[in-house]
Amino acid sequence: MTRRLYLEDSHLKTCTSTVESCRPTDRGYDVTLDQTIIFDNAGGQPCDTGSIGDAVILGCDEVNGELLHHIDRPLEIGTSYPVTLNWERRFDHMQQHTGEHLLSYSIYKLFGANNVGFHLSSGYTTIDLDRPLTQEELFEAETLANRFVSLDLSVTAVRYETAEDLEQAGLTLRKQAEGIRMPIRIVSIQDADCCTCCAPHVFHTGEIGSILITESMSYKGGTRVTFLCGNRALLYTQQARKVLSAAGRQFSTSWTNLTESIEKMQEELKGLHKREKELSESLNSYLAEELVQKAVKTGKTTLILEDVGNATQEKLKSLAAKTIRDRNSLTVLFGKSNGRLNYVLSCSPDSTCDVSELCRVVNTAVSGKGGGRGTLAQGTSPIPDAFNETVEQLRVYFRSRLKQ
Ligand SMILES: [Zn+2]
Repeated sequence: MTRRLYLEDSHLKTCTSTVESCRPTDRGYDVTLDQTIIFDNAGGQPCDTGSIGDAVILGCDEVNGELLHHIDRPLEIGTSYPVTLNWERRFDHMQQHTGEHLLSYSIYKLFGANNVGFHLSSGYTTIDLDRPLTQEELFEAETLANRFVSLDLSVTAVRYETAEDLEQAGLTLRKQAEGIRMPIRIVSIQDADCCTCCAPHVFHTGEIGSILITESMSYKGGTRVTFLCGNRALLYTQQARKVLSAAGRQFSTSWTNLTESIEKMQEELKGLHKREKELSESLNSYLAEELVQKAVKTGKTTLILEDVGNATQEKLKSLAAKTIRDRNSLTVLFGKSNGRLNYVLSCSPDSTCDVSELCRVVNTAVSGKGGGRGTLAQGTSPIPDAFNETVEQLRVYFRSRLKQ
């Protein structure tokens, strides 16, 4: 059984350990040691990394009661090696984890919400709470948790071998101990939190630096809270300040006035969109008037067949609708947008034209895809090489067809 030195002293950065077993695996080697400072993946906290002699520790897991250090090269069984911990990674994890205990405690104390899930990753930490919490409530809990940080309270861990020992200690645990198997390890924060935990923690809450909630969302009827502690919180704040300052410069204002500036801009944009719609409407009416001037009576049908230049399908449809004024009218319009050709065929309700069938004629002429029914058909295609000639050919075809 490996002696877990990190449970006795969470700030131990090196030790000397003897290799008890070394087995090849598909990703390297697994070794067990007589004692270690390397914490395994447990209790929601990722494992430590570091080195054993020249071997790099890639990970560590407990398997069937054995603490397996995953390393990149074999080590001699029975030989002692210096073990070095990647302290920066461990300290960061301890800051997040002790911060989690404090934040969970603050939320529990203020609002009676229980932590029912915890995940610590390389970028952020989340806790899941069993009831919905408002942003204001979370601000309040964050403030209290940071007050505990600034009080630099001591953090201690005690292992209890039996249920009687635990009962005698008279502790009030945040998480109920029901169903928990002995022996048990209790992590206590002076005058504050007390709960079961298997992970190494900081010695004093001041080491956490600060606790910053970055996000909250509804989750399974409760709340999922994302937060950062220590250097992670500092880096996040610096990044946020950079983004807010840059946004403020865009509006020539301080970031504190950004909300008002954005609201003002949205109002202005709304006005501009309205004005643009009005202008585009009147421009369409003007264009429709020009198209109507080009109408040709062909047989019983009044035909308009024109290329209107740059136009989306929507614009073509709106224009075509404005040109259908007489009985027996047919309008065929072409326009280009986003490097493609658009076309619309529209007829008056009393027309005998079959726009769906006529659309298929246009599809064939321009190698496009389109269709429709009733009084409207539309299609799109790549822009043909000889587009103008194609339009002229279609004009000739439609005139001869409508004369019949
Ligand atoms: Zn814990």
